Amino acid sequence: MDINEFREFGHAAIEFLIEYLETIRDRPVLPDVQPGFLQEHMPSEMPEQPESWQEIMEDLKKYIVPGLTHWQSPRFHAFYPSQTSFPSIIGEMLTAGIGVVGFNWMCSPAATELEVIVMDWLGKFLNLPEHFLPSGKGNGGGIIQGSASESILVAVLAAREEKVREMKIKRPDLSESDVRSKLVGYGSIHSNSAIEKSGLLSATKIRLLDADDTSILRGETVQKAIEDDIANGLIPFVCITTIGTTGTCAFDNMEEIGPILKKYNVWMHIDAAYAGAAFCLPEYAHIKKGAEYGDSINFNLHKWMLVNFDCAAMWIKDAAKLTKSFNVERIYLDHKYQGESKAPDYRHWQLALGRRFRSLRVWITFRTYGQEYIRNYLRKHINLAGMFLNYVNKDDRFEETGQSLALAYFRLKGDDSLTRKLLDRINTRRNIYLIPAFYHNKVIIRFVICGLDPQEKDIDYAWNEVKTVTDELLAEMEA
Ligand code: PLP
Repeated sequence: MDINEFREFGHAAIEFLIEYLETIRDRPVLPDVQPGFLQEHMPSEMPEQPESWQEIMEDLKKYIVPGLTHWQSPRFHAFYPSQTSFPSIIGEMLTAGIGVVGFNWMCSPAATELEVIVMDWLGKFLNLPEHFLPSGKGNGGGIIQGSASESILVAVLAAREEKVREMKIKRPDLSESDVRSKLVGYGSIHSNSAIEKSGLLSATKIRLLDADDTSILRGETVQKAIEDDIANGLIPFVCITTIGTTGTCAFDNMEEIGPILKKYNVWMHIDAAYAGAAFCLPEYAHIKKGAEYGDSINFNLHKWMLVNFDCAAMWIKDAAKLTKSFNVERIYLDHKYQGESKAPDYRHWQLALGRRFRSLRVWITFRTYGQEYIRNYLRKHINLAGMFLNYVNKDDRFEETGQSLALAYFRLKGDDSLTRKLLDRINTRRNIYLIPAFYHNKVIIRFVICGLDPQEKDIDYAWNEVKTVTDELLAEMEA
């Protein structure tokens, strides 16, 4: 492909995206395909000779698009949002075109420095405790990882290494492998699967503790777990609190948990993958109470802050702990400014060596929208979820209804099989997409505001789907 074809293909790709995104609402949000559908249309080997971009675009429309789940559709209400936005799309394109890899400062000074700057902007916008901010007085810093899972794993690994260093001094009678085998961490049973996985990947035991009746992990539960484990000769090293659980967007009680962790010198990580966005809203300041006890925190810009996947912000209170734990020297990685705080080598803060220039998308998106727009955009989503909940609450066939941020939930009165049937039928129609969770040990259906530019008409549409399927289902049950 030469530069002229690049121009033509590029323009055609933008035109395709404009048409795709403009009409996204009109497409069934879930595809009508069976596993293996694509293999029928694809050759078993890559082409020997070049093919034209026109042919490739044709096949994209013909074979790939019909197999897509439309995450940017405002009729997608599953999981949490993974929104894109026009400036972010442009940022993604520019990033790919510029094509730098910034694992140390020297590899692309602007990439590293822009990341420090946007992570400081974002930390201030979210009103994070000052100790996390790159511009704060301490040793705090921010990095953009690919996912919340990576951020959590990095935090767990850093906490593990910190505890091993501490125990070498406090308990010289224990060998390092003894210490490692005794480590134990904590999260709530409602925490994301990423927490359990971080235990598997870090070869440490992570206990998932019971939450209260409203899915909140409480201080006394953490305290008891720590005391029991210490009495059994174990060494507590990390606790992952969740601000915005995946099921019902519950907020663990960091104000209670924080002081306990401090007392036992246990690292507190805060997983605010979705709900962290709401830290920028003064009316939701209460959800981050206790964050001042945090040693590290993650929040996905690619969930609810207009930057497309992958873009997961992570801050750490003492960035030196990462460098101390994960620094591997090689002559080819040396540069004359290494170790300077204004020029962090992000390779020490993450799993991979190479890294994307993610901050470019963030910078373009933040400058395009500004703080006020983003705050109002979040408020709009919260109001839309409230609008949906109002419809549900007026219908006495439903129970266990609730809302947290832009997530609403509900279930049909009766046993779980009825709610499962309802959900199954809704998703089989493919017009909207919803997923289940557990609340009060019962199956509930989650309804999250997602997609590009959701509007009131999308809420009416979704409620109409839910109501229509409920009418049909209950009529059949009575017949
Ligand atoms: N934590 C929470 C609370 C989540 O809701 C999710 C995903 O929805 C994750 C972590 C995992 O996010 P990621 O896919 O970025 O690893």
